[in-house]
Amino acid sequence: MNIKFGPVGIGKLKDIEKTFKEYSELGFRCAEIPFTYGVYIKEKETAEKIKHLAEKYNLELSIHAPYWINLNSEDWEKIEASKERIIESCKVGEWLGAKVVVFHAGFFSKINREETYNNIKNRINEIQEIINNRNKWKIKLAPETMGKINVFGSVEEISLLVKETDCSFCLDFAHILARDKKIDMKKIEKLFPEKEWHAHYSGIEYGEKGEKRHIPTKDAYWEGLFEKLPKDKKIRLICEAPEPVKDAINGLQIYLSR
Ligand SMILES: [Zn+2]
Repeated sequence: MNIKFGPVGIGKLKDIEKTFKEYSELGFRCAEIPFTYGVYIKEKETAEKIKHLAEKYNLELSIHAPYWINLNSEDWEKIEASKERIIESCKVGEWLGAKVVVFHAGFFSKINREETYNNIKNRINEIQEIINNRNKWKIKLAPETMGKINVFGSVEEISLLVKETDCSFCLDFAHILARDKKIDMKKIEKLFPEKEWHAHYSGIEYGEKGEKRHIPTKDAYWEGLFEKLPKDKKIRLICEAPEPVKDAINGLQIYLSR
C-alpha cells in the first residue's frame, strides 16, 4: 500500500501507548501531532518516549505548528514570534523523530503577492539555516496549501517555495478543492514531482472565497480522491475532519476495498 493513513491528534499524553496501539490495530501508519495552541510537549524525555512508542507501533509522526503564524506580517515582532514558534515545533519534532513540521505560512493583508512570496521565502531560508545547518536537525519544513483565496498558499506558490528553498510541503486536498473548486491532479503532479507527499484530507464546505470549514468526509469524497491520487508516490494522508479517527478508519476501509 502506497498510502499511509492516520488522523490528526494523539489523544492524552498519559494514554499514549494505548492510543498508538489502537491506531496500529486500526491499520494506521501515521499520525500528526497538533501544536495548534502551543507546543504542549515540553520535555525531551517525554518526546523521546513518544518517539519510541511510535516506532514500536509503526507510526510515522508529523507535527502541525501553532496557528498563530504569519511570516508576512508588517510587524517585525510578529514575524520573530512566528519564526520562534516554528523553530520550537522543529526542536520538539526532532526529539519525536517526526518527518515534517506543517505550518500555515502567512497572509497577504496589504502586501502584494510577489512581495509576500519573497518575504515568506526569505523567512523560510532563515529558519532552515537555524534548524538544518546550525542545529543539524533532519526535520523538514512543510508549508501547507491553504483553502482561502486571500491567504498565501496556492499549489503554485507552495511548489515554487519547494523549488527555491528546498523545503518540503503539505498538500491539503480539501483546501485545494476549496480554493481552486477542483483538484487538478495532473497539474499537481507536475508541480510536485517528489516521490513522497505529505497530505491532508477531509470533507470541506466552501464558497467563492474558498474554505469555510472542515466537515465530515463522505464516502464519495474519499472515492473521488482515490480515483485521482497517483499510484507511484508514497503518501502520508492525515485526516483532518471534525472526527479524524472515525473518518480515517472509513477512508482506509474504502481504499482497501477498491
Ligand atoms: Zn490541513
